[in-house]
Amino acid sequence: MTFAAGVRVHIVGVGGAGMSALAVVLRGYGCVVSGCDVGNAHVLTQLRALGVDVLEGHDPAHVRSADVVLWSPAVLEDHPELVAAREAGVTMWARPRVLGELSSLARVIGVTGTHGKTTATSMLVNIMASAGRDDSRLVGAPVRGVGFSGYHGDGDLIAEVDESYGAFAELTPFALGLLNVEADHLDHYGSLANLESAFVDVLSRTTGPVVVWRDDPGAARVAARLTRPWHRVGTSSDDQWRLCDIELSSRGARARLVGTHDVVIDLGVTGRHNLANAAVAAVLAMELGVSPDDVTRGLARFRGAPRRFEHVARWRSADVVDDYAHLPGEIAATVEAARAAGYQRIVAVFQPHRITRTRSVGDAFAPAFDDVDDVIVTEIYTAGEANPEGLSAQVVVEYIRERGRTRARFAPTLAEGARQLAEVAVDADLVLIVGAGDVTRVLEHLEDVRPPRDERDPEGHRSFLGQDPCVHYDAPLGTRTTYRVGGSVAAVVTWSSEDDLARTSQRLADDARTHVVIGNGSNLLVADGWHDVVAVHLEGDFAQLALHDEGDDVVVVAGAGLDLPVAARRLAGDGVAGFEWAVGVPGTFGGAVAMNAGGHGSDMSASVRRVEVWSRGQRAWRDARELHFSYRASALAPGEIVTRVELVLRRGDVATSRAQISEIVRWRRAHQPGGANAGSVFRNPENDTAGRLIEAAGLKGHRLGSAAVSDKHANFIIADPGGRANDVMALMREVRSRVAATSGVWLETEHRLVGFEEGW
Ligand SMILES: Cc1cc2nc3c(=O)[nH]c(=O)nc-3n(C[C@H](O)[C@H](O)[C@H](O)COP(=O)(O)OP(=O)(O)OC[C@H]3O[C@@H](n4cnc5c(N)ncnc54)[C@H](O)[C@@H]3O)c2cc1C
Repeated sequence: MTFAAGVRVHIVGVGGAGMSALAVVLRGYGCVVSGCDVGNAHVLTQLRALGVDVLEGHDPAHVRSADVVLWSPAVLEDHPELVAAREAGVTMWARPRVLGELSSLARVIGVTGTHGKTTATSMLVNIMASAGRDDSRLVGAPVRGVGFSGYHGDGDLIAEVDESYGAFAELTPFALGLLNVEADHLDHYGSLANLESAFVDVLSRTTGPVVVWRDDPGAARVAARLTRPWHRVGTSSDDQWRLCDIELSSRGARARLVGTHDVVIDLGVTGRHNLANAAVAAVLAMELGVSPDDVTRGLARFRGAPRRFEHVARWRSADVVDDYAHLPGEIAATVEAARAAGYQRIVAVFQPHRITRTRSVGDAFAPAFDDVDDVIVTEIYTAGEANPEGLSAQVVVEYIRERGRTRARFAPTLAEGARQLAEVAVDADLVLIVGAGDVTRVLEHLEDVRPPRDERDPEGHRSFLGQDPCVHYDAPLGTRTTYRVGGSVAAVVTWSSEDDLARTSQRLADDARTHVVIGNGSNLLVADGWHDVVAVHLEGDFAQLALHDEGDDVVVVAGAGLDLPVAARRLAGDGVAGFEWAVGVPGTFGGAVAMNAGGHGSDMSASVRRVEVWSRGQRAWRDARELHFSYRASALAPGEIVTRVELVLRRGDVATSRAQISEIVRWRRAHQPGGANAGSVFRNPENDTAGRLIEAAGLKGHRLGSAAVSDKHANFIIADPGGRANDVMALMREVRSRVAATSGVWLETEHRLVGFEEGW
């Protein structure tokens, strides 16, 4: 068996960085992917939106219908689902096998090394996107400005090639860049020499170009053992590609990369290590035919990877920078970058990651902190590893103290770490939070943490709405629509409570970007790619229903995030008549007001009395008359957000309403197609129907790329799983012009569009 369309894959621990990306890529290859996890709620929400069947909790029943079970390295051997899979004889693939399988599905263009992989791979993704390629990607974190960590495209697979636990042992890359090699994962490899041999093997198996950053001693040792050609990149004159004219500042890093071409690198992130990452990504791309101009443009649009020297907050007089560094070399590079950025007094909070790593390289952490003024070391983040000897991070504190360069303290908990920070970080201009575990949460124990300074974020992309749990930057949007295709946007704000609204309202009001509201996305088409747009979504407290009698009438107040079919059934069950028609409209109340949704002889305008609208930070009820409802339209302005809707209905008979609902559902099933669609594409022209005109133009069943006109109802377009929104749009254009040619009628779409030019 191999990964192929229809193969049912279940992933235990799907919320983790690597596994969530893998889930999306496998789904793109047509696999039916399910997964479960107990944390990472935000990632799970995104996965659901991307078509992964996220199951609640951990239950042995989850694995029984799977063809293949995969699991995250963070999942322990005795996990009930893994035990059940073994007992049921379900095929189980460990990570090496998974990556090996992927290289048989696509050409893998990878970046490897013990650190910097996520950053360099994200840079490569940006470069390839600038070159107009539509590659798949498998990265350890979301790629800012591009989208989710996993994506399935038409081209090659750009992958962060992870060395931990022998993961790449069965991978045969097409092209591979090596950044650096430092002692890590020695519990698996046994020695640095073995780890280096593993890198030699994977580079030797690579069938196309190999690129090595030669300034790194470990990478240079590995490359020296290769018997195949490789491209030398570094800062010395005998490198084939030489990085020179290096300039570092707090805002970024610049250099020239001189080899076959002379390439300008201008990064919005600082640090020499980032220039090295960029150089390897650039040479890999150019060896694959990307032009130097596209390399420069791609690197310029790179906006940093999450938790890689990320300015997350201001606290007292200090900038707070969060970094995932967890190896001595990474920490040293991060500290060097901080000094180069001009910070004077640096206080670090460091949380060692994993027992095995702390045991094997614990002493090597000490010199990495030489250039820091104070360091608070919190207890080891075990990542689920057993700790039979009771190893403590205190040992790292001792090593640091022995060097006599940096004041070091031990904090058994994050809360204690925060307390000590408050004591020592009096005049600090930088608080550096480092570690791969949950050390960032030290911030939760500090008072008066403020959003980061915006001048460090000139494009305003990372923090323009603040760091708030209900704001997700660079988030997918297209896959949240019922077409399930399309790109991502600068931010998605999810209001689940009045609190969420109150916290984000002002910043949202002040933000100058285009704002869209997304309900269920059942009438929305989002162009492929990334859009500088903020999307707002309402759920939770904004999806409630309340009703009371007012004379002969029943007054219903519905949250804008509530689904129409849910409300239609509930109202029918409560003996309220007049809203049965809505059972077949898979939108929310907000979307239904905006669109004046309707069907079966009624529409929203028939019952809406008033609507509560948020506009530029103010909220007020508006009389229905002000909304000027007309056929599938209202006068709501772009950026105005419906938060609640008040309708007036009447008392009725439960049995009659339920019978009507059953009849509507039956009719819909008989007349409307399944698959990913957004209902009627075009409005019906006067005295005719769009469906009849499209059929008369001979377009029923007509396909264009990954989109097709339904052969059941010609006014529906069906998008293929993992297809492209731009194909849907191209098909809409073709339908419109062919109908115009055959019948003289110029069709107008019902859909709302994001990221497409006006007048498409
Ligand atoms: C299978 C199928 C059948 C359908 N049948 C019908 C039908 O019979 N009749 C019909 O009218 N439609 C139908 N539709 C289309 C669609 O369901 C409706 O237009 C619905 O009202 C859209 O609601 P939504 O929440 O999905 O809005 P979205 O598609 O998310 O958004 C649509 C528009 O509403 C705006 N919007 C969404 N929420 C808010 C809010 N809170 N405040 C302000 N603006 C908001 C959006 O910005 C956008 O402009 C169908 C769709 C499908 C997929």
